[in-house]
Amino acid sequence: MIDGFGRRVEYLRVSVTDKCNLRCVYCMPEEGTAWLRRDEILSYEEIATVVRVMARMGLRRVRLTGGEPLVRKDLDRLAAMIAAVGGIDDISLSTNAVLLAPIAERLRRAGVDRMNISLDSLRPERADVIARRPGTLRRVMEGLDAALAVGFAPIKVNVVLMRGWNDDELADFAELSRDRPLHVRFIEVMPTESNVRLSADGFVSCDEALARLSDLDELKPVVGPPGNGPATYYRLPGALGTVGAITPMSHNYCGSCNRMRLTADGQLRPCLFGAIQTPLRDALRSGRPLVPLIEETLRIKPERHHLVHGSTVGSGGLVALSQTGG
Ligand code: SAM
Ligand code: SF4
Repeated sequence: MIDGFGRRVEYLRVSVTDKCNLRCVYCMPEEGTAWLRRDEILSYEEIATVVRVMARMGLRRVRLTGGEPLVRKDLDRLAAMIAAVGGIDDISLSTNAVLLAPIAERLRRAGVDRMNISLDSLRPERADVIARRPGTLRRVMEGLDAALAVGFAPIKVNVVLMRGWNDDELADFAELSRDRPLHVRFIEVMPTESNVRLSADGFVSCDEALARLSDLDELKPVVGPPGNGPATYYRLPGALGTVGAITPMSHNYCGSCNRMRLTADGQLRPCLFGAIQTPLRDALRSGRPLVPLIEETLRIKPERHHLVHGSTVGSGGLVALSQTGG
C-alpha cells in the first residue's frame, strides 16, 4: 500500500472500543465522551475481515488499542483471529495495564508479541490524580510485572509529560529502564478539544526532557527496540532498557508515517488528526467490496498533521485520543 506521497503503509492501529476504565487528564474529559452504541462497534469478526483484506494489500503489523482495549471481553480471541491472517507478522497492544495481569498469558499465547503500557507517574497519589481513578499505580505495576513474566518483548512504557504534573519524575522514569528491559518513552502532549488548556500550559518538549536527563546521568544515543514508530532512544550506563522521546509537536515525523487507523465504529483514518475518514462499516455489513474504499483512503492520506499549540486547529474536532486509538 503506497500513499499519494510515496509512503509505504503496512501498519494498522485498531481501536476495539472507545470506552476506558481510566480518565487520564490529558486524554479524556472526566465525564467521558459520547460513547458509541454497541451496534455501532465492529465485531471481532468484522475487524478480522478488514485485517484480512488489508493484509492482501500489504498490511504487515497490527496494534490493538482503544479507549482501553482490555475493557472489551476476551481480547485474546481477536488477537488469535488476527494472528491467523497470512502476512501479519507482528501484533502489539497499547494498554493502561490496569486489567492486564489476569489476561497477560492468554494474550501472549494468542499471538500478541509486544506491548506499550501507559504510565504517567510512579507516585501512587499522583498516578490516581492523573488517571482520575483510585489504586491505579498498584494495578498498572501488577500488569507490568505480568507482561514481563509471560515474555512480551519489547515492553514500552509511555509517559505523557506535563509540566507541574509529572515532569519532576524524569529521573525516576529513566531509572525504571535500568534493571528491567523496559523502554520508557516520554511523549509530548497533543492538543484535543478536551485538553487545549492543559496541553498548552503543561507542554514539555522532549528536547527539554532529554536535556534535563542528561544533566543527571550520561545518556548515550542507541538503536531503539523494534517497533513501527517515531521514537529516538538513549541508554543509561549499564541499563537493560532504554529511554526515548516521541515528539509529535516539536519534530513531526509525518514524512515517514507508515500507518492507518481503524476506529471502533469502523472508520478508516489515514491520519490521527484531521477530519478525513472513510466509513467501512456499512460496506462490511452489506458485503460491498472494501478494497476501493481502502485504496481511496490511502490516496487522500494527508502529507502531515496540522496541530498547533494551544489550539484545536488541526485536531479535526477530536475530543479525545481515546476516540481514535491514539
Ligand atoms: N488506553 C490505552 C493506553 O492508555 O495506552 C490505549 C489508548 S491511548 C489513547 C494510546 C496512547 O495515547 C497512550 O500512550 C496515551 O498516553 C496517549 N495519549 C492520549 N491522549 C494523548 C494526548 N493528548 N497527547 C499525547 N498522547 C496522548
Ligand atoms: Fe484511557 Fe488510555 Fe485515554 Fe488514559 S490514555 S483515558 S488509559 S484511553
